[in-house]
Amino acid sequence: MITITPYGAAGEVTGSAYLVETPSSTVLVDFGMFQGDKDDDARNVIPGRIHRMDVDAMVLTHAHLDHCGRLPLLVREGYRGPIFCTPAARDLAEIILLDAAHIMESDFDRRRRRSEQRGRKMSRYDQPLYDKDDVTQTLDLMEETDYGALRRITKDCHVLFHDAGHMLGSASIELRIEEEDGTERVIVFSGDIGPPNLPYLRDPEPPAKADVVFLESTYGDRDHKTLDETVEEFERILVEAVSSQGKVFIPAFAIGRAQQMMFHIAELIRKQRIPAVPIYLDSPMAIKAVNVYRMHRELFDAESTALTENGQMMHDLRSLVLCTSAQESKMINQAQGPFIVIAGSGMCTAGRIMHHLRNSIDDSRAHFIIAGYQARGSLGRHLVDGATQVSVMGERKLVKARIHTLGGFSAHAGQTDLVAWFKHVATNGTPLTFLTHGEQEARTALKDKLSELLNVNAYMPAYSEHLVI
Ligand SMILES: [Zn+2]
Repeated sequence: MITITPYGAAGEVTGSAYLVETPSSTVLVDFGMFQGDKDDDARNVIPGRIHRMDVDAMVLTHAHLDHCGRLPLLVREGYRGPIFCTPAARDLAEIILLDAAHIMESDFDRRRRRSEQRGRKMSRYDQPLYDKDDVTQTLDLMEETDYGALRRITKDCHVLFHDAGHMLGSASIELRIEEEDGTERVIVFSGDIGPPNLPYLRDPEPPAKADVVFLESTYGDRDHKTLDETVEEFERILVEAVSSQGKVFIPAFAIGRAQQMMFHIAELIRKQRIPAVPIYLDSPMAIKAVNVYRMHRELFDAESTALTENGQMMHDLRSLVLCTSAQESKMINQAQGPFIVIAGSGMCTAGRIMHHLRNSIDDSRAHFIIAGYQARGSLGRHLVDGATQVSVMGERKLVKARIHTLGGFSAHAGQTDLVAWFKHVATNGTPLTFLTHGEQEARTALKDKLSELLNVNAYMPAYSEHLVI
C-alpha cells in the first residue's frame, strides 16, 4: 500500500509538501514555506507525522521558497539523508535559502531590540526558523541529479526528473515505486509548470505515463494574455519612455523575472527599437542569479543558446551596469534619463526599489512598469490600483510617475497549457488525478475543465488528508 499526504499547497499556492509512504520507505517531495499570510509563522513547522528519523529521502521540484523553504527546518532537527534535485535547482536554492535565513535573522534582531526597549519578552514564534548554518548543512545534503537520469533513492523507489519549464532547473518528478508484488506504480508530481516560450527555458516536457498524478492549478481558471502581446505592450512603453528621456523602473523578482526582463530589453536593443540606454541591474540577488544562469547554459532553449554562444546577447546588453553595492545603487539617483532600472522586490515591499520609489514616484518623467503579481496590501498593488498618494519608507508621496501594469508575464502555465500537459501524461491511460497548488476557485475550475474535456474526475485533497492509492 502507498499513501500520500499533502502538508501544504492543498487549496492554496504555498507550502508545497507531500509525504509519500511505501511499504518499505518514506520520501518527502518538496518541503516549502507558507508565504503571504500573517498566520504563516505558526504553519511553518514540521507536521507531527513527518519525523526526521522516518524520512529516508527528499526530492525537490525547484528552488522557489514555497517549495524548498522548510527543508532547513528538518535538517536543523537532525535530518541527514539525501535531498535529490537538479544541479541548477541546488545553485538557485543556495541563493534563495541564504537570503531567507538572512531576512529571518535580521527581522529577529530588529524585533529583539524593540522588545528590549519596551521591556517585553519575545514569544517562541519570534525566533528565526533557521539560520545560515542550517542552510549550509541543507545544501551539503543535496545530491544533484540531471533531467532524464533514472536514480534509485530508497530501497523501493526511483526518481526521474523532467523539465518543467518554470524556472531554471525546475522539474516535474516521476517516482517509480516497486510494490510488494513486484509491480511498479508511477507517481508524477507536476511541480510548478511553466508556459511555453519563456526566455532561456525549454518548454515543459511532461512524462508520457503515470498511474497517479498531482497537478498544480495556480492558474487553473484562466489563460494569460499571450507573451507576444505582452512584449509588444512592453515595447510601446519603453519606446515612449526612452524617447522622452524618461527614467524607467521595473520592480522585479530577483530570480527568473529580472532575467526575463533583461532578455526582452536585449531584444528591443537588437531590433533597434530602443537605443542601448544604461540598464541598471540593481539587485545583488539578481546578479547572483545571472551567474547561475551563466553556469547552466546547457539548460537553455535553442534560441537563447544561439544568442549567448555567438556573443549577440553580450553585445545587446553592452550598456548593462551591475549594481552590487548600496553605493552603486545610490549613484543611480544622480543619473539623467533615459535609463532603465531593474530592482527588487517585485511587489515594492522591500529592497532597493524602495529608495527609487522614494526618489522618483513624484517625478512625472518617471515610469514604473509593474510586471508581476501584486499581493493585496502591497505597495505595488496600491500603485496598480491607481493610488494618487502612497507611503514610501515612512514618507507620504504624491504619485506623479506613470504606472504601467503588464499582466502577461508569468512563469506559470495557464489553463489551456495545464490541460495540454495533463493530456500528454494521460497518453497511455488516464491516471488517478489530484489537483493541488491552487486557490480553491482555480482548482475547481480546472477540475471542471478536465471533466468537460477529458471526462476525468480529479480529486481535490485537503491539508494532511491521507490518500491511499
Ligand atoms: Zn515556483
